[in-house]
Amino acid sequence: MRTLLLLLYSLGLPLFGQAPPDWTAFETETLKHFQALVRLDTSDPPGVELPAVEYLKKALEAEGIPVEIFARDPQRPNLVARLKGSGAKRPLLLMAHTDVVNVDPAKWTFPPFGAVRDGGYIYGRGTVDDKDNLVACLMTMLLLKRMGTPLSRDVIFLAEAGEEGNVRFGILHMVENHFAAIDAEYCLAEGGGANRTAGKLRYVGVSTAEKIPNGVRLISRGPAGHGSRPLRSNAIVHLSQAVAKVAAWQPPMRLNDTTRAYFERLATISTPEEAERYNNIVNPDKTEAIQEYFAVHEPGHNSMLRTSISPNIIKGGYRSNVIPSEAEATLDVRALPDEDMARFLERIRAVIADPAVEVAPASRGGGRPPAPPSRLDTPAFAAIERVARQYYSGAIVLPLMQTGATDMSYLRSRGIQCYGIGPATDSEDGPKGFGAHSDQERILEAELRRFVRFHWDLARAIAE
Ligand SMILES: [Zn+2]
Repeated sequence: MRTLLLLLYSLGLPLFGQAPPDWTAFETETLKHFQALVRLDTSDPPGVELPAVEYLKKALEAEGIPVEIFARDPQRPNLVARLKGSGAKRPLLLMAHTDVVNVDPAKWTFPPFGAVRDGGYIYGRGTVDDKDNLVACLMTMLLLKRMGTPLSRDVIFLAEAGEEGNVRFGILHMVENHFAAIDAEYCLAEGGGANRTAGKLRYVGVSTAEKIPNGVRLISRGPAGHGSRPLRSNAIVHLSQAVAKVAAWQPPMRLNDTTRAYFERLATISTPEEAERYNNIVNPDKTEAIQEYFAVHEPGHNSMLRTSISPNIIKGGYRSNVIPSEAEATLDVRALPDEDMARFLERIRAVIADPAVEVAPASRGGGRPPAPPSRLDTPAFAAIERVARQYYSGAIVLPLMQTGATDMSYLRSRGIQCYGIGPATDSEDGPKGFGAHSDQERILEAELRRFVRFHWDLARAIAE
C-alpha cells in the first residue's frame, strides 16, 4: 500500500482529493526557512529567542495556522500552533527548541550564524541541535495544512525557549502554567537520529527513555587540629576513603524494555565479538566479564545498565598546616528511570560504612523530574519503525535510553509518550568537531531534506 501511495505521489496523481506536494518547491522553501532560522543568533545564555518565534509566527500565520505565545520573559517566548483534528484521538505534539549553545567565533571556518552551504553541508550553530527539528516541525505543519490532510487528532507544534540554559523560561513554564495548550498522547522531539558510519547507514536511533540526574553530597566531619600531629579522624582522609569505595562499587545491573530491545537489536548489526557480548548481558556465566568490558571500553553501555555514580567535585582544606574539620565531595548520580533514590542513598551509606561521612541529596542537577520510559508497544512507535524503514532503506530502529537528560522528561513525567528523533549524521562528525555543542556544527543537506519528509510522513501516519 505504502509503495502504491508513493507511486501515486511520484506520478503526480491526486490522492483522496489532495493535491500532491511539489517537492522541488517544498525543498527550496525548507532550505529558505532553515537558513533564516540558523541565521538568527539565539545563543543561550543570554537566550533571546524572540526573533525566532516572530519568524515562525509569521510563516505559520501566512498559512492560516493560528499561533499562541506563552512567555515568562517577553524576550524568551514559547510558541504554540495547533492544527485541529476530529478529536477522535488525543493530540500529537511536535516539539523543538529555538535556543542554541554559545559559540567561540574564532573556532569557526564559516560564520557560526551564516548557514553557509559548502560541499553538501550547511554550517552553523544549531544545524543539528535543534534547528533541524525546528524546521521539520514548521514544514510538517505547513504541509499538513496546505494539503488539507484529514486528522484524527490535533497536531500541536511547540517551539520552546531555554532548553540549553534555563528550563524556567521554556518547558517548565509550559508544563507548570500552560499544560493544557500542549497536553498530548504522543510527542516527537529531539534526541534520536539515524547513524551513518563510513558513509553507510547503520541504524535509526529513537530515544524512548532517559536517565534522571541526581546530585549526592558526601560530607565528612572530624576535629580540626595542627598539621604536625596527624589524626586518624582527619576529614579529608575519611572523605577520600568514602569516594574511593563509592567509585569502586558497581551498583546492580537492571535492564528495562528499552535497553533490552536496544542490545538485542544492536547485536544484529554488530561484529560477532560485539554481538556475543550484547546477547549475553544477562547470562549468569558471562555477565560479570561483559560488565567489566563495558566499564573499561564502552562507558556509555555501562551507564545504560545501572544507576551510575561519578565523583565530580571534591573540596577540603584551606592551608597546609591545618587539619580541616570538614571536607565535601559531590557525586553525579544518573538514576535509572525506576530508581528509588531514598533506597539508593541507603545503599551508598552501606558501601561507605563510615559514621563520620554524611550522605545527603544535593539539589538535583538540571532539575529534571523522574520520568518513566516511553512504551515500545504503542501505535506511534510502530509508525516510527514503519516510516523509518521506508525512508532509511530498511535500517533497523534502535530504541535508545539517553544517559543525559532532555526536556522530554517533563512530558514523560506527565504521561506523554515521547519519542526522540533526528536526521542522519555521520558518527565520525562528532569526534571531528562538527557535532551538537562542538566547536563547529554542520548538517548534511541531503539528510536535512530526507528528515523533513520523514518527519512529515511520520506525523501524518500518527495523526491521519
Ligand atoms: Zn538540543
